[in-house]
Amino acid sequence: MSSSDEEQEQKKNDNGGGILDFIMNLEDVPSKLSPHLELIKTRVVCSIDAPQHTDTINYSGAYAALGVDNSVRLDSFCRNFKVEVKKLTDDDIEFDMIGIDPSLANAFRRILIAEVPTMAIERVYIANNTSIIQDEVLSHRLGLIPINADPTLFEYPDNAGGENNEKNTIVFKLHVRCEKGQPRIIVKSDELKWLPNGSDLIADDTKPNAGSKPKTFTSFSCSQDSLPEFSKRPLGPTYPDIILAKLGPGQEIELEVHAVKGVGKTHAKWSPVATAWYRMLPEVVLMEDVKDELADELVTKCPVNVFDIEDIGKGRKRATVVKPRACTLCRECIRGGKEWEDRVSLRRVKDHFIFTIESTGAIPPDVLFTQAVKILEDKCERVITELS
Ligand code: SF4
Repeated sequence: MSSSDEEQEQKKNDNGGGILDFIMNLEDVPSKLSPHLELIKTRVVCSIDAPQHTDTINYSGAYAALGVDNSVRLDSFCRNFKVEVKKLTDDDIEFDMIGIDPSLANAFRRILIAEVPTMAIERVYIANNTSIIQDEVLSHRLGLIPINADPTLFEYPDNAGGENNEKNTIVFKLHVRCEKGQPRIIVKSDELKWLPNGSDLIADDTKPNAGSKPKTFTSFSCSQDSLPEFSKRPLGPTYPDIILAKLGPGQEIELEVHAVKGVGKTHAKWSPVATAWYRMLPEVVLMEDVKDELADELVTKCPVNVFDIEDIGKGRKRATVVKPRACTLCRECIRGGKEWEDRVSLRRVKDHFIFTIESTGAIPPDVLFTQAVKILEDKCERVITELS
């Protein structure tokens, strides 16, 4: 066997002996598309009127006539898929997700908004409210306060058959009064005090026997602060300075609230993100050299400084693309006639997403993404189990 025959045999074996792989790896079969098809497959081209080639080409046999295999393979996905974190703060994260289909990027976005659980105030028991803010409005404001509690440590309330216990409920109390003759008071979220032993309020319909403890709205079997998971990190609102109400002299608010576990698709108050969004990576290409006065004009056209000037000697200058990631697709650089459309090509990379997650503060933003990945994984496992 000649050395080239051996190489071909090796290639065949490397690919698990698949005849399709073997054919695709033959040298006279093109392994890449021609440039214009590659552009249509991998880029959205943004012309002056509308974006073009926006759909993804997923059909495995789309380029079969050209001898190019378009199938999605797990090994090539694993090889190409990358996540690169660009910015991480307490409140938000920006990362690049590379080598992924838009449907999967969108699945993560939707899971983040609607399916990652958090703790939020669900029940408000108002004992007294003489402020000018109505009970309903006050309850709504309380519901939207991000609660600093790890939802993985709690159960959904439905799992306990309607019982509010230390595993599914967090109780807070708020009692503020503005005395007569005193200046107005601003009631903020730090007035919510955690009750680790559960509710203080006596349930109306209970008639306790003599000597027995009156029934409250919760049935805690132990104090939450005696549990190791909560003893080091007291539960409370994430931010202490969220304004809830303003009290004038003589006004008072006394209430108790119960926070439970839930997800954003039930109510937006359980959504852990202020927003989760993505955009495709911008690609700005100069199709010809843009020099001298035209270079100056191009630089001034762009409001976000995507272009800069390069000195090319003899007093001449040329425009270069320096910050393509900042491009907002305003299209200013291709306005002003057909010649500008020919000079500058605006594109978006179809499988490269700049993903931004802004947390409400209930869960750190990097943890949010890993939880979204786990939820998608669980869903895939459920589908596989159902099918098998
Ligand atoms: S589309 Fe707008 S932001 Fe993007 S490069 Fe052109 S002028 Fe700049």
